[in-house]
Amino acid sequence: MDNVKNYILEALKDQKEIFGDLLFEPEVKIKIEEHKEIKSDKWHVAEKTEVKKESNLFMEDFQKAKSVTELYDMINSCLKCSLGKTRKSFVFGDGNPNADVMLIGEAPGADEDEQGIPFVGKAGKKLNEILNAINFEREEVYIANIVKCRPPNNRNPLPEEMETCIPYLYKQIELVKPKVILCLGLVASHALLQNKATLTSLRGNVYEFNNIKVMATYHPAALLRNPNWKRGCWEDVQKFRKLYDELVKRN
Ligand code: URA
Repeated sequence: MDNVKNYILEALKDQKEIFGDLLFEPEVKIKIEEHKEIKSDKWHVAEKTEVKKESNLFMEDFQKAKSVTELYDMINSCLKCSLGKTRKSFVFGDGNPNADVMLIGEAPGADEDEQGIPFVGKAGKKLNEILNAINFEREEVYIANIVKCRPPNNRNPLPEEMETCIPYLYKQIELVKPKVILCLGLVASHALLQNKATLTSLRGNVYEFNNIKVMATYHPAALLRNPNWKRGCWEDVQKFRKLYDELVKRN
């Protein structure tokens, strides 16, 4: 019986990875779009997201940070949401603070909470493999999450937790100034791009966040649960590498 229950739970998690909450929202018609083949260096931008800076009057102190180190010093004792009370570590980010490539995940898990570094557990190992497959060293990219503290029992971060924490990520993006961003999974994609598209329709397309090109693929933890998605992920990251090569390497 436990096997059946686990099987159903895994299947539900897979559906959530692709569709998010759409399946559970009445009246929403799910549109599965064909991937757009990207053949040339004229990258079609499917949608642009702009996040405006707050005016000086309402600006919090961390907005004045001049480097990621300074930002970390200003925010690492944050207790703005309840995750601050249960965390062991504030998992800020990892990698090259001047990276051209930024990867964005969802939230720290148990291993990340222990070590204070994003993507160091099993999903992190998978992420390192993905990066190596497209000839990036982990040290040359910058990795961060939508929320900096571990949600209890690995639940998804709540909308209010993401809303509270995401200004820190916006500031990290502003300071790192990546040329390309890869969102890992639907939660990160929805939060950054501020849309509710399915992962199927996001994958393979190019978006923009504050003029930075963004693509999305499966979360590495989803690949561990569902190895059938590895091929799709491989195709996504090949396109991402091509985008990088055309936008960054050439210049
Ligand atoms: N999953 C994430 O989304 N982020 C991490 O840092 C680890 C696992």
